[in-house]
Amino acid sequence: MQRLKQHQRTGIVSEAEMKRSGVIPPLSRLKKGPVAIVECIENIPCNPCVYACPRKAISMKGGLTGTPKVDFDKCNGCTSCVARCPGLAIFVVNYAYSETRATVALPYELLPKPKQGQRVAALDRTGKKVCTGEVIKVWDTKALDRCAVVTVAIPKKYWNKVRNIKVRHRKG
Ligand code: SF4
Ligand code: SF4
Repeated sequence: MQRLKQHQRTGIVSEAEMKRSGVIPPLSRLKKGPVAIVECIENIPCNPCVYACPRKAISMKGGLTGTPKVDFDKCNGCTSCVARCPGLAIFVVNYAYSETRATVALPYELLPKPKQGQRVAALDRTGKKVCTGEVIKVWDTKALDRCAVVTVAIPKKYWNKVRNIKVRHRKG
């Protein structure tokens, strides 16, 4: 019987699997500013990400069931692709945000949407809390079809851990 890869067993792509798949930009590129990280390593029939990028930085070899690859030099981290992925698999990381903090722009479909300046629980890929984050931007327009792009600032060391947030409901 064929042995399943970790993400096929758990539904969660591990950092090691992403590194092997070339999903993670090199530190030299991360230090230059925001860049897309497309955490999609399965051969599934899907490709909106390819058409979402105005700079043509995302390509897919092998047709519709190929896996997307980001040209890290073409990508300027605009976040246009983040809300276009039905699998919620695209993130934009700005490792160079400040001396101590990085930002992660992530897709967020739940309600209520967070507000700029709000503190939220920053979660890893399994949903476990990693740290507290500060929402620095919420991009939420009709054109995004109910999926907001939320940018959260977090301690720099968690740039490759934080991939979701939990918003505390405000009373009143
Ligand atoms: S962040 Fe912007 S430039 Fe980079 S891949 Fe996505 S759409 Fe293209
Ligand atoms: S749109 Fe999302 S799920 Fe579809 S191929 Fe691109 S990254 Fe993968």
